[in-house]
Amino acid sequence: MKTFQELGLNDALLEAIKDMGFETPSEVQEKAIPILLEKDTDIVSLAQTGTGKTAAFGFPMLQKIDPKSRTTQGLILSPTRELCLQITQEIKNYAKHMKGVNVVAIYGGASITDQARAVKKGAQILVATPGRMQDMIRRRLVDVSKIEYCVLDEADEMLNMGFFEDITDILSHTPDEKSTWLFSATMPKEVSVIAKKFMHSPVEITVGAKNAGTKNVSHEYYKVSGRDRYPALRRLADAHPQIFSVVFCRTKRDTQSVAEKLIEDGYSAGALHGDLSQNQRDMVMKSFRNKQIQMLVATDVAARGIDVDNITHVIHYQLPDEIETYTHRSGRTGRAGNQGVSMIIVTQSESRKIRAIEKIIQANIEMKKIPTGMEICETQLYSLAQKIKNTEVNEEIFNYLPKVEAELEDLSKEELIQRLVSVEFARFHNYYKKSKDLNGKFEDNPADKTKHNRKDTTRFFINVGERDEYNWMALKDFLKATLEIDTDDIFHVDVMESFSFFNTPNSLQEKVIEKFTDFKIDGRFINVEISEKGPKGRSGGSGGGGGKRRSFNKDGGSGGGGGYKKKFNSGGSGGSGGGGGYDRGKRRSFDNNPEKKSGESSGSPRRSNSGSKPTYGSKDSKPGGFGRRSRS
Ligand code: ADP
Ligand code: MG
Repeated sequence: MKTFQELGLNDALLEAIKDMGFETPSEVQEKAIPILLEKDTDIVSLAQTGTGKTAAFGFPMLQKIDPKSRTTQGLILSPTRELCLQITQEIKNYAKHMKGVNVVAIYGGASITDQARAVKKGAQILVATPGRMQDMIRRRLVDVSKIEYCVLDEADEMLNMGFFEDITDILSHTPDEKSTWLFSATMPKEVSVIAKKFMHSPVEITVGAKNAGTKNVSHEYYKVSGRDRYPALRRLADAHPQIFSVVFCRTKRDTQSVAEKLIEDGYSAGALHGDLSQNQRDMVMKSFRNKQIQMLVATDVAARGIDVDNITHVIHYQLPDEIETYTHRSGRTGRAGNQGVSMIIVTQSESRKIRAIEKIIQANIEMKKIPTGMEICETQLYSLAQKIKNTEVNEEIFNYLPKVEAELEDLSKEELIQRLVSVEFARFHNYYKKSKDLNGKFEDNPADKTKHNRKDTTRFFINVGERDEYNWMALKDFLKATLEIDTDDIFHVDVMESFSFFNTPNSLQEKVIEKFTDFKIDGRFINVEISEKGPKGRSGGSGGGGGKRRSFNKDGGSGGGGGYKKKFNSGGSGGSGGGGGYDRGKRRSFDNNPEKKSGESSGSPRRSNSGSKPTYGSKDSKPGGFGRRSRS
């Protein structure tokens, strides 16, 4: 292993490296830095998150630019505002002992004039998100025509987020002779396209196996019934009193509601998704960084910027649509040499995805059991004992001790211990003493379907399908959000080319029909009707309707659901804030749904913070008292 000095870095950078406490170069740094310092070449570098990519391009860029010139020489494109700010800060730290280096962050959601002014003062390095950068080039507020080095950081994420055109456009304004340094955790087709299109015989370096999950992360999955997802999440949290985690949900709505439930149940949790204002998001992130929030519940998109070390657990409350996203999620833990755990909560029907993920991450995912209530009580008890042992005694207490001691005088040490731990043990014990085993069921009952007796359910037809960019998960999400019912009450979802089928319990029949009466999206009627028979002969048994097909179609009755030829115009689903869920242009977002409650404000940082306060005494039927305070 080489030292930073041996990589060829200059004294000013070595000094900064010492200040930051980096001892040895990481693998990607060791591989990339000498190449980038020695020659002007393009490079494609594949490395997971948390492997130190920022320094791998930041050090060479700083050493190669001319700080005396005020021309913009380096451009770093990164997918999110959060990452953009982090990289800017990192590069500033690296440049601490260099004179005259100006690094400016360019990102949306902040004053463009201020950013333009900062650039005008002379910025050798710009760190930018593609959207805002493109905007500023168009308005001639920046000049990238003399760029010598261009970094595409987290290229896979940028492309995932639909920045292909922005990137293409930005690059077309930069000189051909520049060097392009592309960094990415994964190498999907789109990234190869960019590499082919914009790079000249790049050197390729790979750190670890391609697409492999971080070595420092171990993977586990927990099989539960859909209804037990939330209780399972609580148990996983309770079984790890020191947890500091990101909990991933698939939709903004789930993110918000899981965070709210956790807060109500006394956990220090917060939500991070695209419906929050930037200000709210900043506050949540601040609380999370300060560890006032122990469980950050986030959508994939919103979590992109999260670069917090020491995350102990990533919890997949739901699996992502795309398996590759799993890699990004689990890369949030196991950073900077720490060990991390990635925990997946799955239902029986989703569990087949586990094998597919194992293939991609080339690692084993171990099946584990949700701890029982009593196991959790035990863990919490030992954790409490440890906490007592490690508590620093506050000197202020001495004034009051004589009285306290007098009060407790008659108790032996044993009695004292018993009572001390009982004060808080009782909280968990009361909650868990009657709790059921969340595992188990599946051994006898492999099919989730058995939960619903078929004759108690109604099968529906709906006139949207694959053509409208739905798959079964997306449709389920849409129905869940629109009907405001639990996912577990939507099953047997079968998506066809231009229409689909799903079942709900009979009790929800009226609700479904009512909701979809005169229901429009983008001016198009969404037509739902009770189906006699879906494909695969899954009869829904139309619940007393005598199999009569009732049409609820206000648009002229498409009967058996032949075709809605008109594709949704994917104009602007507008107003979604672009943050949560799985929008990414793969499927439509229905945020302009008239039923949607806008401006959801709970789970805001304020609430999260109050949730993070100790809750002694107040909620005695619930745990949440101990082990939940911010860790120091
Ligand atoms: P990536 O961009 O690959 O996700 P970062 O560049 O953000 O990773 O680095 C992750 C963390 O590791 C940061 O906190 C960074 O300061 C730290 N780090 C980077 N290089 C080293 C090193 N050589 N030694 C110790 N810590 C490092
Ligand atoms: Mg990075």
